Amino acid sequence: MNWRERLEGKGPGGWVIWQGEGASGLYFACNCPCGCEDEVIIPIGYQHEPNYGWGWDGNKERPTLTPSLRRIGSCASHFNLTAGNYVWHGDSPRPIAPNVWRAA
Ligand SMILES: [Zn+2]
Repeated sequence: MNWRERLEGKGPGGWVIWQGEGASGLYFACNCPCGCEDEVIIPIGYQHEPNYGWGWDGNKERPTLTPSLRRIGSCASHFNLTAGNYVWHGDSPRPIAPNVWRAA
């Protein structure tokens, strides 16, 4: 099952973390937590050449990513994922989806 299939049905904010092919490193993808139905995909864990990507604390159940994710040229949502929960920033034009995924 590929990452896109693993995102299906998870609703706004649902995410997956996976190891890319070969030496391409780790990736994080989520359904945009605003509910716009876009997928957000970023490299994580500083395994990518030449050493770019978001910081990740290594937690697969309740991940923390740094710095924030700010979407450019689409819904413009701006958020952090901290200990598995989304932290919404006030400069986002849309509110966070009311049914956004939350860590148990
Ligand atoms: Zn969005």
